[in-house]
Amino acid sequence: MTERLYLLDSMMSAFDAVVTACEPHKGGYLLELDQSAFFPNKGGQPCDVGTVGDAVISDVNEQGERLWHLADRAIRPGTAVHCALDFARRFDIMQQHTGEHLLSYCAWHLFGAQNVGFHCALSYATLDLDKPVSHEGITEIENLANRLAAENAAVTAKIYATEEDLKGIPLRKHAEGLEAPIRIVTIEGSDACTCCAPHVRRTGEIGQLKIVEAIPYKGGMRCTFLCGMRALSHAQRMQDTVTSIALRFSTAREQAEAAVQKQAEELSNAKRELRQAYAALDEYLASALKAEAEDVKGTKLIVRILDGVDAKRLRNLAGATMTDKALSVLFSDTGERVSYLLASNGIKTDMGLLIAAVNTALSGNGGGRGTLAQGSAKKPQGLSETVEGLRTYFRNVLLHG
Ligand SMILES: [Zn+2]
Repeated sequence: MTERLYLLDSMMSAFDAVVTACEPHKGGYLLELDQSAFFPNKGGQPCDVGTVGDAVISDVNEQGERLWHLADRAIRPGTAVHCALDFARRFDIMQQHTGEHLLSYCAWHLFGAQNVGFHCALSYATLDLDKPVSHEGITEIENLANRLAAENAAVTAKIYATEEDLKGIPLRKHAEGLEAPIRIVTIEGSDACTCCAPHVRRTGEIGQLKIVEAIPYKGGMRCTFLCGMRALSHAQRMQDTVTSIALRFSTAREQAEAAVQKQAEELSNAKRELRQAYAALDEYLASALKAEAEDVKGTKLIVRILDGVDAKRLRNLAGATMTDKALSVLFSDTGERVSYLLASNGIKTDMGLLIAAVNTALSGNGGGRGTLAQGSAKKPQGLSETVEGLRTYFRNVLLHG
């Protein structure tokens, strides 16, 4: 059994210990120490990493009463070792974790929302609330949490020997299934709850608390939040983003949103105008196509390559050329690729049959049946000649059935 030094002093970044066990494990070694300040993967947060003697510790896990440090080399049991945590990582995690206590207290105090889940990753943390909170409510939680952080209240942990001893302590949350002795973490003047992890000593050490996203989750809310340097670097990134948008619009940051809005409206208007222009153009194109249709035994045959017409326009154009008996085969040349559409009316031949010939001629992919088929291919050398060959084929199909 290892004495857990992190329960006594969360700011301990180095300590001396004696190795009590060493076992090979997954290409490394599991070390056990007589005492340790390394916090394991536990309670939704990642473990501490660091060094034990010359060994690098990359993972720490609990197994019952035992605490195993995953090391890159073996150390003989009985060896006295100096140990050091990656304390920047530990402190960052303590900031997020203590921030979670404070945010949870504020959600509970302001809206009666209980924290029902916590996860701390190395770049963000989430806490889950059991009831929905409005956007304004989330801002209120943030504001109160930051005010309480600025009051720099003491954060203390105390161990109670029995459940009896806990009576009279106004707990926000009592984790289920805990056996005495129970550790209560208190933020002076506000929060008290059961917790086994290390915390910062005063709320001021949390730094800024920022909820960056709050989305509906399991009937409540999942809040993604950042504390301390994480909140600062998020603010810096957001500032850089808004600055680059503002620069692009040659305006001040404060005007960036209005500039984006204005451009979105202009784009929407331009798209509408373009649609209207295409509609007028396609009306003209359709009548030109109809005028050049070839009469093959009473069927109007149109075969034509068009420049960069999208699939929807191609379909509309083909539709507009339909007469009592018609076969229209339209190709759209976009430079790199060619798309094609076959439409018919009043003839027996199935378009599924004809598109097979087009697919073969262009090495393309396409399908369809009845009176409509469409496909596309990489634009081949000599597209015009290939299409003229297909025109002859379509003409023969119409002539001979
Ligand atoms: Zn805690």
